[in-house]
Amino acid sequence: MGPNGIRLRARQGESKSYKSPRVRIAIAVLTLTVSVGTVFAFQRAQIPTGGEIPDGRKRDRTPEKITEVLRHVQGNVYVIAGIGSNISVLAGKDGILIVDTQYEPFTAKIMDAVRQISDGPIRFVVNTHSHTDHTGGNENFAKMGAILIAQDNLRKEMMQTGPNAPPVPAAALPLMTYDNQLAMHLNGEDVTIIHSPKPSHTTGDSFIYFRGSDVIATGDVYNANYPAINVGDSQGVIDDWNLLIESIGPNTKIIPGHGQLQTRADLMALRDAMLTIRDRIRGMISQGMTFEQVKTAWPTKEFDARFSVEQGGRNEVRTTEQWLKSYYEVLAKEVKR
Ligand SMILES: [Zn+2]
Repeated sequence: MGPNGIRLRARQGESKSYKSPRVRIAIAVLTLTVSVGTVFAFQRAQIPTGGEIPDGRKRDRTPEKITEVLRHVQGNVYVIAGIGSNISVLAGKDGILIVDTQYEPFTAKIMDAVRQISDGPIRFVVNTHSHTDHTGGNENFAKMGAILIAQDNLRKEMMQTGPNAPPVPAAALPLMTYDNQLAMHLNGEDVTIIHSPKPSHTTGDSFIYFRGSDVIATGDVYNANYPAINVGDSQGVIDDWNLLIESIGPNTKIIPGHGQLQTRADLMALRDAMLTIRDRIRGMISQGMTFEQVKTAWPTKEFDARFSVEQGGRNEVRTTEQWLKSYYEVLAKEVKR
């Protein structure tokens, strides 16, 4: 094992995957569609799963250096990706609904991408959760006249202040909040906003399900790689994923909080992988193994090529080894109970 341990192996898996012809074609298509711009906005092919959304990791965050790319997902739903969260877009005669707002400086670029498919007003912004890579542009969109919508706890989280959390402007806070579920009806589409029931990523996460288009935005509860458990316990995220799996169908396109489009089968594979990994680590902890020993035993071995943290499109550069350490600590507390 090299100085980077698991991370090295994951990077090998990552570079290998880029050699596949499918990915090469996807990159070629991406380059072409970006360069032809708006003309072909309606002619783009659907994003293949694992395809072509730009990866926000390690990017220079200077707005001039970021391209916000619009992609058709399925039905009436599009996704905008550049840096920070994926933004889902539903546009039509009733105006535009977007999910999440990335960071504050990118609003103008995001609007340029939106204008490729609609000249209508942004009427609604739904936030999946409170983190600033998903809510940073809220105030800008509110000033354009959009109504901000989120789960009750998200508003409470955004109102909390601390040494690293200066007060959020009142205009950036949700105007409308909901408890368990909220239904919206616009552009011929039933949109269901579902509170993810167990605290896992935050306490106020929402899934946004565009039923007519059969597309769901999950926020960071599901990022198509090993889950960050910030609140709650290891079962919370499994329960949230099971709710997602039950709520959607085999052809639903999943827009994760960051990274590439996924399917229900992808989510089920990650859920099953996590159950195996959790069993292994719990067993190792029960035998008294330290983190270093667990790391050497490599409990994620056959899953890293597909689900390592480095494979996701997260902005913060967090390695699989760092993830394993935090997951070990979560499970160590649970085993001691
Ligand atoms: Zn987050």
